Amino acid sequence: MERFDEIKPALRPDEALMEANRCLMCYDAPCQRACPTHIDVPGFIKKISSDNLRGSARTILDANILGGSCARVCPTEVLCEGACVLNDLHEKPIKIGQLQRYATDWLYAKGEMIFQPGPDQGKSVAVIGAGPSGIACAAELRRLGYRTTVFDAGAQPGGLNTYGVAQYKMKPDFALREIAWVEQLGINIRRSTVVGRDISLEQIEKDFAAVFLGVGLGEVPALGLPGEDLPGMMEAIDFIAKLKMDKESLYVPRRVVVIGGGNTAIDCVTQAIRLGADEVTLVYRRSAADMTAYEHEVSLAKLDGVTFVYEAVPVQVEGGSRVSGLTCQKVALGLPDDSGRRRPEPIPGSDFTLEAEMIIRATGQGPVQLLRSLPGIQTEGRRILVDAETFQTSNPQYFAGGDVISGGQEVVNAVAAGKQAAQSIHSFLSKAKELVHG
Ligand SMILES: Cc1cc2nc3c(=O)[nH]c(=O)nc-3n(C[C@H](O)[C@H](O)[C@H](O)COP(=O)(O)OP(=O)(O)OC[C@H]3O[C@@H](n4cnc5c(N)ncnc54)[C@H](O)[C@@H]3O)c2cc1C
Ligand code: SF4
Repeated sequence: MERFDEIKPALRPDEALMEANRCLMCYDAPCQRACPTHIDVPGFIKKISSDNLRGSARTILDANILGGSCARVCPTEVLCEGACVLNDLHEKPIKIGQLQRYATDWLYAKGEMIFQPGPDQGKSVAVIGAGPSGIACAAELRRLGYRTTVFDAGAQPGGLNTYGVAQYKMKPDFALREIAWVEQLGINIRRSTVVGRDISLEQIEKDFAAVFLGVGLGEVPALGLPGEDLPGMMEAIDFIAKLKMDKESLYVPRRVVVIGGGNTAIDCVTQAIRLGADEVTLVYRRSAADMTAYEHEVSLAKLDGVTFVYEAVPVQVEGGSRVSGLTCQKVALGLPDDSGRRRPEPIPGSDFTLEAEMIIRATGQGPVQLLRSLPGIQTEGRRILVDAETFQTSNPQYFAGGDVISGGQEVVNAVAAGKQAAQSIHSFLSKAKELVHG
């Protein structure tokens, strides 16, 4: 296996059949409830066991239009597979993600679009952001009969699903192929178009009856450390995007330090070591138990040979013409802060330096630029505030979903939010139509 091969390989037909036949086909299945897009899991698995792969893929994609990506990138251990009743019987849970991949890959290989646009509603909707939330919203709007244009800043669509998710879970070509499949519904994606720079929101408001904001989160803000502008310092999202889209231009040195304790930090250490770095160290300011990264991914990083330094904060980036190390200070964990976790308090005189030629900042994304200029829309920090059921913002023409409302979750949550927002946009525009026509 290559170091960047997908970690969960495709099942062979005999393996898929055997796995499908293990499913107990539970009534009111907990896996279906645990899936944010509520895919009828027993239903699609049953269709695999009766060799109805088209029907199986339809069941999946009807609920979740990015079912192929989710099959690869969902943290199934804490979602559907974590809820499988076989866990209670001390048996291995059904490989739901891999079965989902089996059925959807079958359909994508045919390239056939199995859904149709709904009857024309005579209205156009703008979607800002072609990440999972925007694509899911646009696809649902098309199925409901709206003309839909998606504006995206990126040269390629997909948002973090294309540029962010670790290479060993999914390659960008797959994410792009899946979007090309969705585009067959008649969605117009305007690539390399930054809303607020290349087209104004005022123009979009004039041209479209409603707007969905699926703009995600922004860059990882600087930490304000002395030496932080030295060459060799990198931002996590840039590091991962470069690795995925332009690997040749990414030089990974012998020693790498990653700052952070979430899933993005874990993706960075895992990928740095797979790129050939000899020593990769993760520095986290709280304890191991406080890390927000998934346990199974932390275990994978440890197996790969990553060193974890807990309860330490960076204080200075060392180096002359480029980065040569990171000086940190040990902390004592004090009283709980707003997050409920114990506040790290630096211990004077406890400084130590980790030698490194590259330091990656994975300390959480900040707000996107566009948040600063949204008309009459309430925001809080890096999030847009929405009604929890309708996803409508405080400006009725605007709806929002995905990371920009949650502050950062998973692809499957973004897909669920985008789809539900599209249904709310439909109700909103249908009511407006009723008012006009009496
Ligand atoms: C490093 C990393 C690894 C991850 N790994 C996983 C994983 O393994 N599994 C998983 O389920 N989730 C993972 N996630 C989370 C997942 O990628 C996100 O939850 C998901 O992509 C959010 O979708 P979204 O549509 O809300 O936003 P995004 O995917 O961020 O998409 C937002 C889009 O909006 C566009 N945009 C922003 N501003 C503008 C503007 N002004 N004009 C036009 N376009 C604009 C951007 O170009 C982008 O394409 C990961 C996240 C990161 C950061
Ligand atoms: S979309 Fe994700 S959480 Fe839902 S059933 Fe599929 S793999 Fe599980």
